Amino acid sequence: MISVSRLITKRPEEADRIRYAGLKDRYPSVLVFNVTRNCNLRCRHCYSNSGTQLFTDLPLSSWLNAVKQASEMGVKHILLSGGEPLARRDIHIIAKEAHDHGIRVELSTNGTMVTRERLEELKGYIDYVGISVDGPEVVHDKFRGVDGAFKRAMRGIHLSREMGIKTGLRFTITKENYHYVDFVFELMKKEGIDRVCFYHLAYAGRADREMDIDNSTRLGVIRKIVEYSRSGEWEVLTADNPVDGILIYRLTGSQAVLELLKRNGGNKSGERIADVTPEGLVYPDQFTPIPLGRIENLKQIWDEPNHLVKELRNRKLHVKCSSCKFFDVCNGGLRGRALALYGDLWERDPSCYLHEIERDLGLND
Ligand code: SF4
Repeated sequence: MISVSRLITKRPEEADRIRYAGLKDRYPSVLVFNVTRNCNLRCRHCYSNSGTQLFTDLPLSSWLNAVKQASEMGVKHILLSGGEPLARRDIHIIAKEAHDHGIRVELSTNGTMVTRERLEELKGYIDYVGISVDGPEVVHDKFRGVDGAFKRAMRGIHLSREMGIKTGLRFTITKENYHYVDFVFELMKKEGIDRVCFYHLAYAGRADREMDIDNSTRLGVIRKIVEYSRSGEWEVLTADNPVDGILIYRLTGSQAVLELLKRNGGNKSGERIADVTPEGLVYPDQFTPIPLGRIENLKQIWDEPNHLVKELRNRKLHVKCSSCKFFDVCNGGLRGRALALYGDLWERDPSCYLHEIERDLGLND
């Protein structure tokens, strides 16, 4: 994750201690728990193929045990996602367990199942609620496959903010909504929302390359996001493409930015972050469907690393673009995207737009 506002304004943020801590621990600092594959929506870009088909989820005890292991591992941050995490009636118990173990908890939701009652249960145990918005009402509802999804997501945002829970937007960039960056910031201004994360599309689940923008368009979109971040009014992040950090370095020429990016180290799937699926498989991240192990033996994955964990720790030996001058700040981008498009985990990330940056800025050193 790249904190665009942090890098461009140089103003320190709370998450700096996680983002720029350097890679000294053996275990991930962030775990994504996809606690269910059930969802009340049918989003076209869902990376987890979730929906209304009534999937059987792992029991509560499995997730509580995973939290205990996460605590032993020193995990700092658990992201509760799905499917729709609020489709689990016991999600607040998982959140409480993580909170009681001193782990920061974030809820990633489509917002439509947010009610005052559910927030009362969760309040005090979650540090942040991220609610997905894909564009204006018509665009959002078309994407989400259900009429009224936008209005209900907005209601969720209002309720969450009314309850005093830090709440922000999640926006996944696709071919059909990339031109709504202005809309997002206008919405934030109108609603008084102060945090947004823009996600580059990962080709997993129902999302594929066909839905993605090309890399010249990507450059334009991220430059616009950078421009909006300059005012310092908002906390603005991007996810799933460390090349965004290189763009900020190239735009600013700041050595301090470069140092922070080096400390962050770029993509760390399977090292600093990992994902647990609703069935209990542990993946390097939400988008790379190669299992590292199972939820029951979460800690063991990094105590007794298999060949994939070892390769991910030494990906400079494997990733095809490892001779790139920015490899140390990028680490080769998202492996899941290379795997999805080329069938090769170590191919170049197709969403790398370094070439477009250098061409646009007239740089080639
Ligand atoms: S070529 Fe590879 S290391 Fe360099 S910026 Fe692109 S993805 Fe990152």
